[in-house]
Amino acid sequence: MTQYLRQHQNKKALIAIFITLSAVAVPMFQYNSIHLLLFNFYNQRFELFFHAWEVNTAGLINIFILFAAAVILLFNFTYSRYFCGNICPKTLLNNLFTDIIETRIFHLFKIKNRDDEQSFEKNRLKLFFAYAFLAVVIIFGSMPIFFYFIPYDIFFSMLKNYFLGYRFLLYIWILSAIYLFAEILFLKEFFCAYICPYQLVNSITVNEQRGFYTFDTKEKCIDCEACVNVCPVPELDVRKGYDTRCIACGDCSAVCHDVMQKRGGERSLIEYKDFIKRKSLPYLSFAGRRTSLLLIALTLAGSSLIVYYLISPEHLSSCNIANAFLYRD
Ligand code: SF4
Ligand code: SF4
Repeated sequence: MTQYLRQHQNKKALIAIFITLSAVAVPMFQYNSIHLLLFNFYNQRFELFFHAWEVNTAGLINIFILFAAAVILLFNFTYSRYFCGNICPKTLLNNLFTDIIETRIFHLFKIKNRDDEQSFEKNRLKLFFAYAFLAVVIIFGSMPIFFYFIPYDIFFSMLKNYFLGYRFLLYIWILSAIYLFAEILFLKEFFCAYICPYQLVNSITVNEQRGFYTFDTKEKCIDCEACVNVCPVPELDVRKGYDTRCIACGDCSAVCHDVMQKRGGERSLIEYKDFIKRKSLPYLSFAGRRTSLLLIALTLAGSSLIVYYLISPEHLSSCNIANAFLYRD
């Protein structure tokens, strides 16, 4: 792997580790048994910023859907596709497999060229161990998802009792692990480019003024295709112009930087362009700052109002004794 590409991928790996640890930690923070964020289906309450409101299961499902939709919209209005290539949990898992398990631990590929049939043929045993390693990572890695819906200590006590009385949780766990495994091995970035709901929202709210990787100085390009080969999205050529399938991972830019340096050039021909220049937050890509701020304010206000409506006690059809303490002065 070339030097600049390696540095770029190391940086992404660090961001990935930080975000993963934060995502695991968020539902574990608690004060007086109330969590920082928890859609607590076990005790039927919504917990946010160490406050809790008793809510029916249907209300909790609605709040969760609303929360997910608001997060998707807010990232779309700001970090756009940068979210996909650097922050999305599925990309983190994908990168963990391709950059760390496949490339660094098992030394299967020099760059992410997993369609190289000869490499597959020569390294069958290594691949088997890489897949087994991935399976273990996925089984344990998918566990913290449950911590957003069941208090983590309750989840561990269920696990100790082999999910007695809660077998459906075990089945959900197994199914989500199988799905993730299949997606990383077979769908790969095809999912990000064509199936992911975030991408669908991004496509219909597309705005050319958002930040994205762009290719210029065509006359300096030597057509080495390193940028195309390193791209994780199938059949995507960044040199052809803006493409909504691009997940803004930046690998093409990093590898072109290496190519250019070897030829005595100074910089990559592919650069991240944020068309609304912002010095403090380089990746924030507001598509017209005023419009975006208005959209953000509307999303936050709209979702807060609906949540406020849903947590109202008059929607409760039954009460849970575990929540009695919420009503004490
Ligand atoms: S890596 Fe750079 S020089 Fe090579 S084809 Fe891509 S843009 Fe051109
Ligand atoms: S075009 Fe470049 S930034 Fe976009 S997905 Fe491909 S490698 Fe990543």
